[in-house]
Amino acid sequence: MKTIETHPGLADFAVRLNLRGIITVAGPPSFLDEERELEGESFSNLIHPGDVAKFERALESALFLERKQSFICRLLKKGAIPVWVDCHIMRLPDSAPPEFTLIAFDVSHWHEDESKISYLSTHDALTDLPNRLLFNDRVTVAIATVQRHNQSGFALQLLDLDGFKKVNDSLGHIGGDELIKAVAGRLKTLVRESDTVARIGGDEFAFILGGVSAEREVEIVARKILSAMHRPFRIDGKSFYISVSIGSAIYPEHGKEPVSLFKHAEMAMYSAKELGGNCWRIYDSRFNPENGDVSMESAMHEGIKNGEFLLNYQPIFCAITGKLKGAEALMRWENPERGSTSPALFIPLAESSGLIELLGRWVLRMACHQAKQWHAEGHTDFYVSVNVSPRQFRQAGLLASIKGALEESGLPPSSLMLEITEGILMQDPEKSGAILNELRACGVKIAIDDFGTGYSSLAYLKKFPLSVLKIDKSFVDELPHCEEDVAIISAVLSLARGLGLSVVAEGVEFNEQLDFLASRGCDLVQGYLKGKPASSAQFKEKFLKNDE
Ligand code: C2E
Ligand code: CA
Ligand code: CA
Repeated sequence: MKTIETHPGLADFAVRLNLRGIITVAGPPSFLDEERELEGESFSNLIHPGDVAKFERALESALFLERKQSFICRLLKKGAIPVWVDCHIMRLPDSAPPEFTLIAFDVSHWHEDESKISYLSTHDALTDLPNRLLFNDRVTVAIATVQRHNQSGFALQLLDLDGFKKVNDSLGHIGGDELIKAVAGRLKTLVRESDTVARIGGDEFAFILGGVSAEREVEIVARKILSAMHRPFRIDGKSFYISVSIGSAIYPEHGKEPVSLFKHAEMAMYSAKELGGNCWRIYDSRFNPENGDVSMESAMHEGIKNGEFLLNYQPIFCAITGKLKGAEALMRWENPERGSTSPALFIPLAESSGLIELLGRWVLRMACHQAKQWHAEGHTDFYVSVNVSPRQFRQAGLLASIKGALEESGLPPSSLMLEITEGILMQDPEKSGAILNELRACGVKIAIDDFGTGYSSLAYLKKFPLSVLKIDKSFVDELPHCEEDVAIISAVLSLARGLGLSVVAEGVEFNEQLDFLASRGCDLVQGYLKGKPASSAQFKEKFLKNDE
């Protein structure tokens, strides 16, 4: 056998070819199999049919361009899977008729790496579960399968840990990761082998439940998951108890394509969160606010997840001594794209979509924690005032979430004020009275917000367990020049005195307004004159430091 001028030690395969791609000389080592006679055989027959065109192009270019050409192809090995090789082909100098040398290197590891990369890009490194990318792909496949085989459908289920941030804060990130891994491990055991469990976010998991197309079946799985999560998790030698919220949507009933199906499962999940977590919900078309701004609404959903909601605090001072007495917590939404949105815009939408229940609970917890912190720093004679929306006020879980926020933070109930607008209270005064009594019984204080705009019935005002009337800004604006407003303010102040209530005047912007209010015995003032709403850090710097 003739030899060819390559470095056989370096190449895994080397042959000489004629113009038609027939092997004229085969050099050792024969990478294919020892006995195979290669001379006289077409190189095209040795490679995967899908790669033949690449080879032919390279041969042609090597001839005409007289430069080395490279391509990657699969060499066929008898009885084994094809081997990926990196081929280099060049014309032998001065050969006539033209002859070529082809050498090849085994690069199958490249492809192994590639599949490793594709594994990594489709799986979550922490839990080894499919990630969001793969999950989305599986949803698409599941839809196609149902359609092709005329099956009944499947369920898409989302699961989010309740209060994971708190757990994460107390466990630290490593402990938090351990918990996520433990949750993932437990979730895997709960569904069938053929179902998909994916981790699609920090503490968010998603399932595809094949063949599950009736609400009752969804319920069975959801309950199984909920109760499995109730068992404690052992992390770092300690037991941890968690709960989860689950939202489900069924294909095709609740969405015919992946995006809407996912969105609807997500809405159901948020609805479970709004109910206080530790429960499951299935999508219901009523979740869709009929005339709501859907894009803003979904931006709000995202915003909640991304922590775009903040609380500002506006100081409330004693009108006479100027001493700081408390602060109203005011929600802010800072979105990277939308910028800062006024609560006057997003609160009504949150209210109509039901998101307010979730946001409201968050505000309560945040505000109580913040106030407790300031108490701990020595400002014990300080209260925080939290707005309660109409929907929140009527929601069954309000009392529980207030108690929860107080217990969790350790803030004394008497340092929490709830602001409820006059309008809400007067809609159904009997019922409102009953709710207020319950709230009052747990020790919190109640303020009527925007007082003067809601036509209060004096009979009820007398009965309600109130502490504060907040006079609406519109009555303060034209003080002390507008006679009518002077009369109203005077009447409200004497009414409050008669009922034993304190009064906060809102929207005080000028000294003469302040002087007038103080002279008429208004207890407290809130407004731009003395302080605009500020972040907690600014609030501490500007208002608490002066109070020491
Ligand atoms: P509100 O409860 O009447 O809150 C007082 C509003 O008056 C706040 O507007 C405050 O920034 C503004 N304000 C205070 N002093 C002055 C002043 O001297 N001049 C002027 N021009 N404005 C003053 P903001 O923060 O834009 O909030 C608007 C409304 O959004 C609030 O009215 C309240 O109804 C609602 N809101 C804000 N945060 C929350 C919340 O956490 N939950 C609920 N349910 N509603 C909230
Ligand atoms: Ca208010
Ligand atoms: Ca107000």
